[in-house]
Amino acid sequence: MNRSTDNLRSPVICVMGHVDTGKTKILDKIRHSHVQDGEAGGITQQIGATNIPVTAIQEQTKMVDDFKKILIPGLLVIDTPGHESFSNLRSRGSSNCDMAILVVDIMHGLEPQTVESINMLRKRKTPFIVALNKIDRLYEWKASPDRDVVATIKQQKKFTKDEFQEKVNHVIVQFAEQGLNAKLHYENDDLDTWISMVPTSAHSGDGMGNLIALVVQSCQTRLAKRLSYSENLQCTVLEVKAIQGLGTTVDVILTNGRLKYGNTIVLAGVEGPIVTHVKGLLMPQPLKELRVKNPYDKFNEIKAAQGVKILAKDLDKALAGTSLLVAKRDDEIEILKDDVQAEVAQALKSIKLQERGVYVQASTLGSLEALLEFLKQSKIPYSGISIGPVHKRDVMKASVMLEHDDQWAVILAFDVKVEREAQEIAENLGVRIFTADIIYHLFDAFMQHREDLKK
Ligand code: GDP
Ligand code: MG
Repeated sequence: MNRSTDNLRSPVICVMGHVDTGKTKILDKIRHSHVQDGEAGGITQQIGATNIPVTAIQEQTKMVDDFKKILIPGLLVIDTPGHESFSNLRSRGSSNCDMAILVVDIMHGLEPQTVESINMLRKRKTPFIVALNKIDRLYEWKASPDRDVVATIKQQKKFTKDEFQEKVNHVIVQFAEQGLNAKLHYENDDLDTWISMVPTSAHSGDGMGNLIALVVQSCQTRLAKRLSYSENLQCTVLEVKAIQGLGTTVDVILTNGRLKYGNTIVLAGVEGPIVTHVKGLLMPQPLKELRVKNPYDKFNEIKAAQGVKILAKDLDKALAGTSLLVAKRDDEIEILKDDVQAEVAQALKSIKLQERGVYVQASTLGSLEALLEFLKQSKIPYSGISIGPVHKRDVMKASVMLEHDDQWAVILAFDVKVEREAQEIAENLGVRIFTADIIYHLFDAFMQHREDLKK
C-alpha cells in the first residue's frame, strides 16, 4: 500500500467484555502500568483513555511473525467500566469507537456481559477482535511472551494443547449460538466473514503482541477510509474532574478535528449548557492514562485522535458522556447550546421510569446508566433519576414515595456530593440517602436498609 499516513488518525479502540475477564489488566500490560491494582474494588469506575504511540506498538509487537508496516499514528485505547458496557458512548458519540477488543476469559467462555457487549457492537456495526484471555491458566501452561503466541501454543505439552483446543471449540460454539463465526486468528484468512480470536494472557504477556498487531492490521486494512482524518470536530466528554491547582477540568476524546487554545466551547451541563473558553490543553505523557495522576504536557493546538484534558472556567457542572462543540462565530453559540442540551434530554428521555421505586443519582450519564442497568438486573425499580449533586429538589421528589411505600423513599447517590441542606431536609422528612463510589456498596446498603425496614 502506498497510501500516505499523514492523513490517517489514530483509531479509537474500546475494550469490552464481562467483569473480571481482564480488560484493565490487558491495558496495564500494554502500558506497563498498575491501574488495576489501584482501582476501587478492582473495578473500573470511570473511563480512561490511553494513547499508544507507534514506537510502543513497534516495541510490543517485535515478536509477531508477518507483522507488516504500521500506517496509523498510534492507537487510542479506552477502558470501559465493568458495569457500564460503554453505554454512555453508545447513543451519543457512538461513532466514536472505531474498533473493539472483546475480552473473553478462556476458562469461562461467554458470560452475560459478553453477550451484552456483542449486541451493542452489532447494533453499532463496530468491528471487533476477541482476546481469549487467561491462557496462562490452562493446565501447565508454559509462558513465552517474547515469542509469537502461535509458536508458544505449538510448544505446549499435548494435554495443555488439548485443553486449549477444547476450550477454544467451546467458545466457538458459544459464538455460533450468538450467530457469529469465530476462528483463532492464525486460522482466519477472511476477516470480513470470521471474527478473530487471539489467545492472550495479560498475566504472562503471551499473545499481547499478537493482539496489538492484529488490531493495527485490521484497522489499517478494513477501516482506512473511516480513519482518514477529518477537520469536522468530533469530541466527547469522558470525565469531569476537579484537580488540585487546576480547578475543574474535562477529559475528552477528540476523534476528529482539532482543539485550540482560546476556542469557545459549548458543552452540556447539569444545570444547562455551558459556554466557556479553552484556557489550557493538556495531554499526559504517551502511554500514561488520563486518569492517572502524572505530569501533563501543555499544547496550543491538538489534532485528533487524542485523549485531551481541557482547562477552562465554569466546568464544575459539565456533564460527561456528551458532545463538546466549538463555536467558530458568536452567532453560532445559541444553536450549539440547543444542540448539546437536546442530546442530554434525548438520553434521559430514553430511560424508562417506574411509578414506584428508588431515586437514583449519579455523577455522569454513563455511571447513571450503569447503575440503572444494575438495578434492573437486581429487580429494583426506580422512579426518578438525576445527574449531579443531591439537591433539596431531589429529596423532595424522592419523598413522594413516603406516601406509597417507604422502602422506596431512598436516594441512591453514586459518586456525587449531597448538599447540606438536602441532607437536613432528608432527615426531617424521613428520606434515606445512600452514597458510595462502588455500585455494589450502594446496592448492599440499600438491601440492608430494606431488611431493617421489614423487622
Ligand atoms: P476487568 O474487570 O475485565 O477489567 O478485569 P481485571 O483486569 O480487573 O482483572 C480481573 C482479575 O483477573 C484480576 O485479578 C487480574 O489480575 C486477573 N487477570 C486478568 N488477566 C489475567 C490473565 O491473563 N491471567 C490470569 N491468570 N489472571 C488474569
Ligand atoms: Mg476493569
